[in-house]
Amino acid sequence: MIAGRSGGTVKRKSRAKPDPVKAWARRIARYRPNLQRDVMDGLASIYGRPAWERRLDPTSELVLTILTQNSADVNAEKAFEALRHAYPSDAEVVAAELGAGWGGAGLPPGAPPDWTAVEFAPIEELIDVIRPGGLAPQKAPRIQACLRRLRDERGDYSLEFLGEMPALEARAWLTGIDGIGRKTASIVLLFCFGLPLMPVDRHVERVAKRIGLIPPKASADDAHEMFLALLEPDEMYEAHVNLIQHGRRICHARNPAHEICPVAARCRVVNPKAP
Ligand code: SF4
Repeated sequence: MIAGRSGGTVKRKSRAKPDPVKAWARRIARYRPNLQRDVMDGLASIYGRPAWERRLDPTSELVLTILTQNSADVNAEKAFEALRHAYPSDAEVVAAELGAGWGGAGLPPGAPPDWTAVEFAPIEELIDVIRPGGLAPQKAPRIQACLRRLRDERGDYSLEFLGEMPALEARAWLTGIDGIGRKTASIVLLFCFGLPLMPVDRHVERVAKRIGLIPPKASADDAHEMFLALLEPDEMYEAHVNLIQHGRRICHARNPAHEICPVAARCRVVNPKAP
């Protein structure tokens, strides 16, 4: 409250707090014009422009992504293969070319596991099956909870309906499941349907923060939203895949190879005042 002219008091109007995501996008546009474009073009000059292609059916993608949580991709592949062998199904063979953006050795083509058998497997048995993937005691109940939620709500295990929904609605549906965060949901929706979402993994986060595409202290959840505000929907897949490639090949966590980096001229690590 402040004193009014007449001696009474008037209420000070409280200012709405600016949306940090929109504020950041405005700041980049104003002070670092064309940053996104230059980064995309620089990365494309060495990694090319990956074309989106579905690699797995969405239920398999979701389970495989759960298996990768805090585990190496190659170990997640071993666990997924173990699921296929332990709970075989006679579903149609699915393409399983895990190429762009995937860090594992690649799954051989094959049918997804029998999801009914996975959902109803005794938990100790399922933990044993996926043990090669790491953190099996946490992941086995998470996988069963996902399958249960799907069957309860939809009557089967298909996630194809998500492709008909707007991106943020589809993401909200998936993150409504315990243990599924924005990164996992975004992977499923970007890779299975090409929906414009940005999975922010450790490589994407590290490279983007170094360049200054996102603020150094942005939370993982804010980082997701900032990418959506900074990039065009049709840039999301390429940006995700190429930022990951860059994190793996040049912008390593330790000793990044600045001297061969195609975006060094715009990177705030090399030059804290880079345009
Ligand atoms: S200049 Fe160095 S820190 Fe910046 S993106 Fe390139 S490799 Fe990473």
